Amino acid sequence: MKNNRPGVIVAHHGIAVDILFESGERQMVKVKRRSGHVVGDSVDVGEHGLTRVPRRTELCRRDSRGGIRIVGANLDVLGIVVSSLPVPPFGYVDQAIVAARQADLTPVLVINKGDLEGAERFIAGFKEIYQGAVDLFVVSAVTGAGLHDLESFLGKGGGLRSFFVGLTGVGKSSLLNAICPTLDLRIGELYEAGRRGCNTTTVSTLHSLPGGGELVDTPGFNEFGLVDISPRDLAGYFPGFERAMDHGLCRFRDCLHRTEPGCAVADGVESGRISNERYTTYLQILNLLEAGDARFKTRR
Ligand code: GDP
Ligand code: ZN
Repeated sequence: MKNNRPGVIVAHHGIAVDILFESGERQMVKVKRRSGHVVGDSVDVGEHGLTRVPRRTELCRRDSRGGIRIVGANLDVLGIVVSSLPVPPFGYVDQAIVAARQADLTPVLVINKGDLEGAERFIAGFKEIYQGAVDLFVVSAVTGAGLHDLESFLGKGGGLRSFFVGLTGVGKSSLLNAICPTLDLRIGELYEAGRRGCNTTTVSTLHSLPGGGELVDTPGFNEFGLVDISPRDLAGYFPGFERAMDHGLCRFRDCLHRTEPGCAVADGVESGRISNERYTTYLQILNLLEAGDARFKTRR
């Protein structure tokens, strides 16, 4: 094939994609509705259309009909955005961490609204649970505090490609706007717009960050389901749990860390090294996986 040009898909409009070439030039190319191309895909553009380069990673979510959709390709980082208002529901962060690690992405915790009165207690609680297990940034999209550290993390080593997830109201749009001036999301309206636009195609976009790195934005979703994890592997996706197992401290090699005697994870909970909340979340997900819960177990 001649004249093949390598590029990256930077926007998806449902029936067409925008491709950015190394020259900086952009081109819109029509695609079939279910062509399987997603934002972040590296492609070769030739006479016969697009050829996709195999993906390094793919981040999946479940759509409203229970199908699996790919949110973005070749991502490095999942930014899990939380705030003290609204406070994340039980297990939210750990589920997002599991989703990230399952997809080979590095999870990072972004605690937004650090400026809010009374946020200190919330932040301290989170630090106690997650510091050392995942990278953690305390920021404020409103005052700009902490954004510099987050931006330099995302710009590391030639730049990481990231995706941010967070419940409505945690300030995800504000945050993305603050670190990515080209984004221009309308704060507080995204959710409503997403609902009204149920039947129209969601546009995903990929943006370059001024401090290096890239950001994929897919409006209108904020939670992951888990996809096909064997109960045996689950603990390995919980940062801090696997440390206990690396040391081979559970009496039984196939320990599921439930009620087995001589369990290192249960010991970790007992001694306070593993938080009770995270252990309970683990047990809940474990039960669902074992029960073959439809939300949790589908094809990959
Ligand atoms: P999203 O639903 O997660 O995209 O949240 P938005 O970005 O729309 O923000 C929800 C509300 O939180 C808005 O009223 C924002 O002004 C406010 N907000 C966002 N970030 C911060 C922050 O860092 N500090 C404070 N105090 N409020 C914020
Ligand atoms: Zn165990």
